[in-house]
Amino acid sequence: MANLDTYVRLIEAGEIVAFPTETVYGLGADAWNPSAIQKVFEVKGRPSDNPLIVHVSSEEQIHDFAEKIPPIAHTLIEKFWPGPLSLVMKKKADVLDAVTAGLQTVAIRMPNHPTALDFISKTGPLVAPSANKSGRPSPTKAEHVHSDFGAGFPVIDGEATEIGLESTVIDLSEPFPAILRPGSISRKHIEEALGMEVYESFFHHLKNPRSPGQKYSHYKPAAEVRWLTDTDNLQNSSTLFLLMDSDSEASNVVSYRNDLNQLAKELYDRYRQADHEGYESIVIEPFETIDPPIKSALLNRIEKTLK
Ligand code: AMP
Ligand code: MG
Repeated sequence: MANLDTYVRLIEAGEIVAFPTETVYGLGADAWNPSAIQKVFEVKGRPSDNPLIVHVSSEEQIHDFAEKIPPIAHTLIEKFWPGPLSLVMKKKADVLDAVTAGLQTVAIRMPNHPTALDFISKTGPLVAPSANKSGRPSPTKAEHVHSDFGAGFPVIDGEATEIGLESTVIDLSEPFPAILRPGSISRKHIEEALGMEVYESFFHHLKNPRSPGQKYSHYKPAAEVRWLTDTDNLQNSSTLFLLMDSDSEASNVVSYRNDLNQLAKELYDRYRQADHEGYESIVIEPFETIDPPIKSALLNRIEKTLK
């Protein structure tokens, strides 16, 4: 891997660079450079009405992007930053339209990852959507980025990402805060921090979602994803089974021992594996009886992939 300064210079030259965060790999571009941001949309094939999250390395930087920072934003920042929580707030007038897709709000987060923080502290704030082609699973390893964008694509190589699912997005621009995308920071975590009720607004049927990203079907592998039923047979070698508790040692069966954090961490990699190895389906064992904070986000991502 080239050293970090090489990648910093690429960003300064208006290029785009993928880097690891604690959630998934991000595709970084200078948040103040319109042509660099244009490249992000082109390379990803991202619809132009789907806004980007600005990634910062210090709390002060939010003042360059957010016009009104409500007191609850400070409470959440204090409690959860750096971390997987993106805050949507009223934007400053000069924030680029390409960043917000023309909305009057901007999403901002500070990633909890030493490489990401080091990188951003040298480049300044970066927009950083997930570093995958639109419609592919978010990348949780550097090799996923290379498989979507080519072996020569600049990626700051880190480990597999810790959480494996994208950040929680919460809208603070309206009087009542609403979670627009569930993540590993759960509704309960947020309600406890704020001492108030917080709404959830991330259901498929919303006609005019508050988060444009909700309109698009993400994360669809070629293999059919469905829940385990009584009639499933582990001998079916064209199916990849992701089970909660199984002693099978077959190569098409993975047991998570009820550890939903581990399933979240590996989910997108399993989707890619299934496609790569030509599985026809991915069958996941329902996990009604377990309730860790990641559960809502995990269900949300799996439900998006069911056919
Ligand atoms: P990604 O970075 O690929 O995980 O996608 C970012 C997500 O944040 C998408 O679902 C966007 O629609 C959402 N998002 C970004 N900015 C805003 C905003 N200003 N208002 C609402 N949702 C946003
Ligand atoms: Mg994405």
